[in-house]
Amino acid sequence: MRLLLARVLLPIVHRGSRQCTGGTQKEIRVRFAPSPTGFLHLGGLRTALYNYLFAKKHGGAFILRLEDTDRSRLVPGAAEAIEDMLEWAGIPPDESPRQGGPYGPYEQSQRLNFYQEAVQALLESGAAYRCFCTPQRLELIKKEALRRGEMPRYDNRCRHLTSSQVQEKLSKNLPFVVRFQLPSGAHSFQDLVYGWTQHDLASVEGDPVILKGDGFPTYHLANVVDDHKMAVSHVLRGEEWLISTTKHLLLYRALGWQPPIYAHLPLLLNKDGSKLSKRQGDIFIQHFVQRGYLSDTLLDVITNCGSGFAGND
Ligand code: GLU
Repeated sequence: MRLLLARVLLPIVHRGSRQCTGGTQKEIRVRFAPSPTGFLHLGGLRTALYNYLFAKKHGGAFILRLEDTDRSRLVPGAAEAIEDMLEWAGIPPDESPRQGGPYGPYEQSQRLNFYQEAVQALLESGAAYRCFCTPQRLELIKKEALRRGEMPRYDNRCRHLTSSQVQEKLSKNLPFVVRFQLPSGAHSFQDLVYGWTQHDLASVEGDPVILKGDGFPTYHLANVVDDHKMAVSHVLRGEEWLISTTKHLLLYRALGWQPPIYAHLPLLLNKDGSKLSKRQGDIFIQHFVQRGYLSDTLLDVITNCGSGFAGND
C-alpha cells in the first residue's frame, strides 16, 4: 500500500484539532512507546519525530513511555540510550522516565497496580477470565492445529469454568494467566491514515492473554491502560500495530473508557521494498552518532523517506 504521509498528516492535524479541541477542549497528548528490548533505530526515530511534531503543532505534550513488560527480552542500557538518542536528535520528550511528569511513572514495570486494577474490573464484569491451561496443553493444541494445516489458536476452554471450579483451582494454588474474552462479530474503526478497517477477531484468534503468570500485563492490556491513564489523545505508531487496534478498542469498550484517535504510520522500507531489519547494524541511531552525523541530517532523511513529500516517497 503506497501512502502519501505528508498529505495524510495534514488532515490529521485538522481532524485532530477539531475533534479534540472543539467543545471538550481536550489537550493534545501523544506518546512514543518503545520497548527497551533494543536500541533506537531509524523507524523508531521517525515514529518519535511524527509524534513530536504533532505535539508541538498543537501546543500539546510529547510523552516517552518505556514498554518494559517483557522482562526476558530487556537489553541492558537500552532504556537510557533511547532517551539519550531523542535528546541528541533534538526531539526531547516533555514527559518521560528521566523528565518525570504528572502522569508517571513512565516505565510500565512501575505501573503494575494500574494493570491489576483493570484486570480486576474485567474479571468482575466477566469480560476476562482466569485460564489454568498448562503450557503442555497449549503446546498440544498448537501442534494439532499445525498438523491439520491450520493457524494455532487457543480453544477458549477456561471460558467455561464455573466459579466453584475456579475457586477450587485457586485454592490449590494452580498457576494461571488472565485472558480477555473476545466478543464475536466484526468490529470496525477509522484509522486516520488507513481509513476504515474491519476485523472479526474471535473468528481467527483465541482469547488473548492480558495478564501473564508472572503478574506482568501483555502489551495489549498495558498500552490500553496507559494510553487511558496518561490521557493520550492520539496514537501515532507503526502500521504493524494496525491489526491489533481492534483488540485494543474492544478492551476500551469493556473497560468503559473513551479510546484515543489512531493513526498508523507506514513502515520505512529498504530500497527494494523489504523491511528495514534491526539486524542491519547501520539502522541504529548510535551508529550515526558515532560516525559524526549531524542530527538535522538524520531528521531530514527520515522526514523525507517514505513520507510522500514530493518525489521522495
Ligand atoms: N512497545 C511497542 C513497540 O515497541 C509500542 C507499540 C505502540 O506504540 O502501541 O512497538
